[in-house]
Amino acid sequence: MDHRHLFFRHLAQTSPSPLQLEFERAEGLYLITPSGEKYLDLISGIAVSYLGHAHPGVMEALRQQMDKHLHLMVYGELIQQPQVMLAAMLAQLLPSSLEQVYFTNSGSEAVEGAMKLAKKFTGRPEVACFHKAYHGSTQGALSLIGSDAMRQPFLPLLPGIKRLEFNSSDALHYIDISTACVIVEPVQAEAGVRVATKEFISALRARCTDTGALLVFDEAQTAFGRTGKLFAFEQYGVTPDILILAKGLGGGLPLGAFIASEEIMQVLSDNPPLGHITTFGGHPLSCAAGAAALTVLLDSGLTDSVAAKEKCFRQLLSHRVIQEVRSAGLLIAVEFDSAQTCRKVIQACIGQGILTDWFLFAENCMRIAPPLIIDEEKIADASRRMIRAIEKAVS
Ligand code: PMP
Repeated sequence: MDHRHLFFRHLAQTSPSPLQLEFERAEGLYLITPSGEKYLDLISGIAVSYLGHAHPGVMEALRQQMDKHLHLMVYGELIQQPQVMLAAMLAQLLPSSLEQVYFTNSGSEAVEGAMKLAKKFTGRPEVACFHKAYHGSTQGALSLIGSDAMRQPFLPLLPGIKRLEFNSSDALHYIDISTACVIVEPVQAEAGVRVATKEFISALRARCTDTGALLVFDEAQTAFGRTGKLFAFEQYGVTPDILILAKGLGGGLPLGAFIASEEIMQVLSDNPPLGHITTFGGHPLSCAAGAAALTVLLDSGLTDSVAAKEKCFRQLLSHRVIQEVRSAGLLIAVEFDSAQTCRKVIQACIGQGILTDWFLFAENCMRIAPPLIIDEEKIADASRRMIRAIEKAVS
């Protein structure tokens, strides 16, 4: 049965042109339609499924947790093993100052929590962010979005937001003793993969330390090996005061987190107590799946394979209509002359059995962010098919 009619009739529509593919199952690198057609997933549900789909280790952890319990109580009252295990695992992998984890349901909520935490800890009113940033769609996170068009219809949003130029050291003068925090993506994914320079991040860290503003890294898209390190901030030799994780954190289930030192985090527990509350944040299934996925990632060496795989894509994605390929590990933007060409290529890729996507603020760029389990043979095959799709789209 074709569910297209019900999809348009009963699901709130937000995309101007939904892809309209229907999938019934997903395994490894493939999404599978009800009639059994397989599509190669080159976007991982937007940087979520870093181990691909239905990884046996993750599915087994879910089954085991389902046999024990689902939701028990709002966040932070009971000791729930999956939450504790995942938080302890993260703390062990992170610098010692990033030792306490607050679990949320999504990236947007983690951003909300991080902003509240920074305001309460510093007692300051302002938040700085960057042009072309994306931090989520709730009203606080939306206040940070680096696009006037996406903000305008929803005004008034949060006051006290300063929007600065990304990768510009001049912008840093606007960070001062009124700034509670500066929120930055080490790679601006939705801007079409714009990588922060080492100089910029070092200067930003120094400016935050000098002014007492907290430095917040939003690694919703860049963590879990995506850029070739477990966390992208490791490439920069700096430690943020607050780290935001989401997307892949739940191993395919909804989960976000903001992570900070005990000194910073403790301000949420008094005056008033319960400074941040969530019913489902840190759901036992999400935490169990996230811990299982992270264990597989750490044992697999996949993160170390990312640089070679990135190089492979870069070598093979060559065509006269490709204007530029930008990448940060397996987060890749293929730039075309126009949004129209890009749309046609994405559509033609579907015809070749490949699922790609575009970016929010770079409509002329095609997104490639496959599960990290993709191997070089599959990359070669996918690249050949993408080049074929480009030929079809521009002929
Ligand atoms: N931050 C970044 C960098 C993101 O890419 C996203 C989602 N695309 C978010 C925050 C928001 O996450 P969510 O959609 O889970 O609310």
